[in-house]
Amino acid sequence: MRIQIITLFPEMFEGVLNSSMLWKAQKEGLVEYRLINLRDFGIGPRKQVDDTPYGGGDGMVLMPEPLFAAVDDAKEKDPDAQVLLMTPRGDLFNQELAREFAATQAGLIIICGRYEGYDERITTVVDKQLSIGNYVLTGGELPAMVVTDAVTRLVPGVLGGETSAEKESFSEAGVLEHPHYTRPEIYRGLKVPDVLLSGNHAEIDKWRADNNA
Ligand code: SAM
Repeated sequence: MRIQIITLFPEMFEGVLNSSMLWKAQKEGLVEYRLINLRDFGIGPRKQVDDTPYGGGDGMVLMPEPLFAAVDDAKEKDPDAQVLLMTPRGDLFNQELAREFAATQAGLIIICGRYEGYDERITTVVDKQLSIGNYVLTGGELPAMVVTDAVTRLVPGVLGGETSAEKESFSEAGVLEHPHYTRPEIYRGLKVPDVLLSGNHAEIDKWRADNNA
């Protein structure tokens, strides 16, 4: 699966894409990430990407030409990819959507907004507008990282134990996974529940089921 991200700040992704599961997913050839610098599609010698809003008001708006050109470039690599726009106005991103995206063979093209936002006309080439929560962030980069992480770990083969994604939180609608404990058995007077030390797997499964939220 290929995930292409259109952003003015590609350097923000370095640590996230090159660590842990996302790094492993690339190394094993399961997922390919491509960072597209919106500035490369800027207009004129100053590579302009933003302009003042029609109708007046504060801030700057990402111009349509660089955005459309960047999406065209991404589509050339992956014509069937779904285009996602990160925006507080979008549908709330959740595990079900992450599962859907990971299951499709088509790639993803994720557009990160900045400043006051983007020229609305870009929405004509967008398949889904997504929000990661009811708050406003400075740009679409953190939301794009959230979507990329949540989708990547569900791409078949990325997680070590194939079953771990099936058991974790949200794999059944509304269910949150039980608590976990590790060594030592007692820490600062706090003891691990006896049942988890019992070796009785039927009882352990029951305790875990009872302690899912
Ligand atoms: N003027 C916009 C508003 O009031 O809704 C906020 C723009 S925000 C400062 C800049 C960009 O960050 C947005 O265009 C969007 O791409 C991204 N963004 C901010 N909060 C987000 C959220 N909760 N979910 C997804 N994207 C978000």
